[in-house]
Amino acid sequence: MFAEIELIKRTTSLMSKNIKNWALENSPIYKKEKEYFSKEDLENKNIWYVENMREESQPMATSGSTTGNKFKYLRWDRFLKFIEGDNHYDLILEEFKIKKPKVADFSQNAFIKEKSIQKIQTDNFMQHHGFHMEAEVFYVSRTKEYFENQNKFFDEILDFFEENPVDVFLTSGPTINSIVHHLKRRGKFKKITNLLSNTCEYLIKSDAKFLKDNNVIENCCDHMKCWDGGAGFFTCQHGTYHLMDNLSFCKEIDTKLICTDYFSFPSPFVSYWNGDYCKINNNYNRCLCGRAFRPFLFLQNRPFSIKGKCISEFQEKIKKSGINGIKQMKCGVSKIEVVCKWELNKKEKETIISIMSDFEIGFIVEGI
Ligand SMILES: [Zn+2]
Repeated sequence: MFAEIELIKRTTSLMSKNIKNWALENSPIYKKEKEYFSKEDLENKNIWYVENMREESQPMATSGSTTGNKFKYLRWDRFLKFIEGDNHYDLILEEFKIKKPKVADFSQNAFIKEKSIQKIQTDNFMQHHGFHMEAEVFYVSRTKEYFENQNKFFDEILDFFEENPVDVFLTSGPTINSIVHHLKRRGKFKKITNLLSNTCEYLIKSDAKFLKDNNVIENCCDHMKCWDGGAGFFTCQHGTYHLMDNLSFCKEIDTKLICTDYFSFPSPFVSYWNGDYCKINNNYNRCLCGRAFRPFLFLQNRPFSIKGKCISEFQEKIKKSGINGIKQMKCGVSKIEVVCKWELNKKEKETIISIMSDFEIGFIVEGI
């Protein structure tokens, strides 16, 4: 059922060469046509694409790049179901034997709504966790309360899902970290989901372990599918990180994650670094699930985050200025939320705002 290692090596090498040749022939960037972009494009909305493939693609915004220039790239919709469904969200449901799921979608989103939890009708494949099964979807959004009283906001969310556990809880690392904080504050633990599905941001391993040890979740799947030159991976039921070598080939150069995506024909990403850091061992092993895998450790996701700036460097500067009350920074597309242990004073807030003067900043008090 699973491929032999020599065959995997030959196939990945062929696929990488294939997309590289395509890019050299068709992509203005790889052809080094420097005059391709207008000044306006370069300043505001670079679209990185192969001209004649725009019609079957969706323009997607990337949250940033290592150059500091924002750009848009094209996602090829002809392969959307194959890549995001068969080889990602649907594969994960199958791996964890979940059928007709109830899904909670608590993604980091910018929308502020009246109600924190709503059952919704949606045709968004991520909210159904794939294409194969129609899910019952509970959408979790931030309310006014989120900014004014974090305890009350998270109490409402946790009370609801403790009473109404779901099959899949889709969210991201920074939110999981906040959930762990609030569970510890409440001091009671009840199951909220069968599968915690983490994507988009780095998952703190001790958070996942805490939730599992306290039976708040049954399983956890950490996964990402990037179309903009990042890694595609998922953790199987045995907890092994599987790079999706069938979709893209990632290698490590000095802990930088360098990706060649085989299927990004409209916007090729060949030997591209989007800012993520990792460790990859190139020797294949065989996992208990049967798949061959190269040991992979995701170290940091896109620390440059937005506008090409390195968030971890900001955190270091803030610490050096003597401010100790910061727990984490949640990065949106254009705004950074500074999550604090306590209410910072005016001077501290001003210092942080001046250190990160390129960004819109919001302050959230989570507690110790
Ligand atoms: Zn496995």
